[in-house]
Amino acid sequence: MKGDLQTDVLVVGAGPAGCMAALGLARQGIDVVVADRSQFPREKVCGDGLLEDSLQILEVVGLGSAVKEKAHPIRSILFVAPNGTECELEGDYYTLPRKELDALLLSEACKEGARFLGGITVSEPLVQSGRCVGTLGFDEEGRQINIAAKLVFLATGANARILRVFGVLQNRNHSAIGVRGYFRLTETIDESSMVVIYDKRLLPGYGWMFPLGQGIFNVGCGIFLDGRKKMPRFGHNLTGFYKHIQPLARYLQMAEQIAPISAAPMRTGFQGARAYAPGLLVLGEALGLTFPFIGEGVSSALESGRVAASVALEAVEKNDFTGSTLGKYEGILRKTMNGRQQGYQSAQRLFRFTSFANLLIGKAARNPDVRGVARQIVLGERDPLDVFSLRGMLRVLLLR
Ligand SMILES: Cc1cc2nc3c(=O)[nH]c(=O)nc-3n(C[C@H](O)[C@H](O)[C@H](O)COP(=O)(O)OP(=O)(O)OC[C@H]3O[C@@H](n4cnc5c(N)ncnc54)[C@H](O)[C@@H]3O)c2cc1C
Repeated sequence: MKGDLQTDVLVVGAGPAGCMAALGLARQGIDVVVADRSQFPREKVCGDGLLEDSLQILEVVGLGSAVKEKAHPIRSILFVAPNGTECELEGDYYTLPRKELDALLLSEACKEGARFLGGITVSEPLVQSGRCVGTLGFDEEGRQINIAAKLVFLATGANARILRVFGVLQNRNHSAIGVRGYFRLTETIDESSMVVIYDKRLLPGYGWMFPLGQGIFNVGCGIFLDGRKKMPRFGHNLTGFYKHIQPLARYLQMAEQIAPISAAPMRTGFQGARAYAPGLLVLGEALGLTFPFIGEGVSSALESGRVAASVALEAVEKNDFTGSTLGKYEGILRKTMNGRQQGYQSAQRLFRFTSFANLLIGKAARNPDVRGVARQIVLGERDPLDVFSLRGMLRVLLLR
């Protein structure tokens, strides 16, 4: 099909999933266009935290140092239980505002040859004989833009509407909501620790305070919706919501809000959308890849982009855009991610109970072996079910 523009692969969405895919495709010599409704750099509502699994993937593609150079290093995560018990988990973490991270990833993809079209809102697929062969969209002046492609990647984040019009939506409800604001602290405090607070009104969600350097903090909270009967009230002001949550209240008393507080939905648990259709792959949060319980989604978005690029190479080489080649994408992702997704889903169910959160964080605070297991889970080296299951819990409780 002819369009205003033609390409081998059209990536819709320039978040971590789309940029990683574009980078991989461009490096393999495949013609790739990335279209995003925003001009870059753009804001993205996020906690701005990068755990080690994200850095590992960025290292593999040679972008580890570029990201670390811009990012703020973090040496530990401080978990605060509902009863106030604190437990510190050391590690090699980073924070970087998504405005900067995504712009960096996009610019690296463009350096490798990807073409970026900012300000293009994709509205529907172009379909020929049941196969997606491009997209229809609009630029900022409302002019219609058709882009013809052999293969389309939907990397559009938690936007359920676009999944529906492309025929891959299975569940329109998002699974969580996150809220964040930026604050500048007027007094000097430790900026090498990310603070995660399990307040009983938020469980199994949590509040956070992540330092970005130079006295600036990303402060927010995530609420997981399944099983929740009532949403806590945010009001217009996150500071108001947090005024009873320690230690946030203490810190925010000496803070100045420097950007509006914004909220965004999350799609978690590797569910809610089909991974592929003829001529189409679904990536990152659009595929529900953000992890339940921890709300981390940059690493799985990056990983899906990496896998999608390699499967697309095979599809282009074989000129086969049907399920027999594209289906491999879902197979690979399920093999590598199902364990962690299900394990964190189970953790989310258990953390509805305040006593469970107190027990586990208390045990980890007292016992270095439990902290060791938690480290391995955060690193992605151990299945969360090793802790968040009946057998796992018994094992943890028996550790002296
Ligand atoms: C409050 C909050 C805090 C979070 N904190 C963290 C954290 O600290 N660490 C972490 O790892 N994860 C965190 N996450 C999750 C993380 O933000 C997501 O998992 C991640 O952004 C998913 O990346 P993605 O590339 O799939 O989608 P996105 O980053 O959402 O990118 C999607 C892109 O698609 C574009 N787009 C959407 N629709 C269209 C359209 N119709 N046409 C053209 N373009 C379109 C958007 O403009 C956007 O640029 C948080 C999420 C929230 C809401």
